[in-house]
Amino acid sequence: MQELKERIIAEGIVREGNVLKVDSFLNHQCDVTLYQHMGDAWAQHFADKKIDKILTVAASGIGISCVAALSFGGVPVVFARKAQSINLDGDQYTARVHSYTHGNDNTVIIAKRFLQPGEHVLLIDDFLANGAALDGLIEICRQADAVVEGIGIAVEKGFQSGGKRMRESGYDVCSLAIVKSMDVSTGKIEFA
Ligand code: 5GP
Repeated sequence: MQELKERIIAEGIVREGNVLKVDSFLNHQCDVTLYQHMGDAWAQHFADKKIDKILTVAASGIGISCVAALSFGGVPVVFARKAQSINLDGDQYTARVHSYTHGNDNTVIIAKRFLQPGEHVLLIDDFLANGAALDGLIEICRQADAVVEGIGIAVEKGFQSGGKRMRESGYDVCSLAIVKSMDVSTGKIEFA
């Protein structure tokens, strides 16, 4: 998606540890018009799929998913939240997720009543690196007997393993920008 790539080139900052900062438009300050265009692009890609619900992970997936949901006819958005051990009970699906940016492990939960067996879901996230966040969502869908119809990603870091692994597992991954390489010393970002 040309518009997203141009914004990444103009405003993206390459950080140590293969982290791309795009917080001026994607995951801190939010450009909702860009979000709308991203939603339209995913809706076009997944036009032949039945999407009952969008699943994402707190916090940075929530904004893009809520705007994108409008492009899918206003389907509900459910976000996996980080578990507070105090309120864990049998009414929730849970999965362990390693956080790429924070370097720690979290248990994420989705209440069972918000994900029904047989529901067709689209997974959306802002970034795809090694795929741990998606693994968590896929595991929760497996527990719920929900059907993963596809995966919508804003920025895939193509030099990391997640995208390849998801595609090899048979998932339809639609990444709107795939970063081929980025250099922390020059700040140069190249797309696939
Ligand atoms: P994964 O689980 O695929 O390894 O990493 C994806 C998750 O980590 C996303 O939910 C995203 O929030 C975060 N993440 C991974 N890489 C980056 C990055 O380069 N920049 C930002 N801002 N977030 C990232």
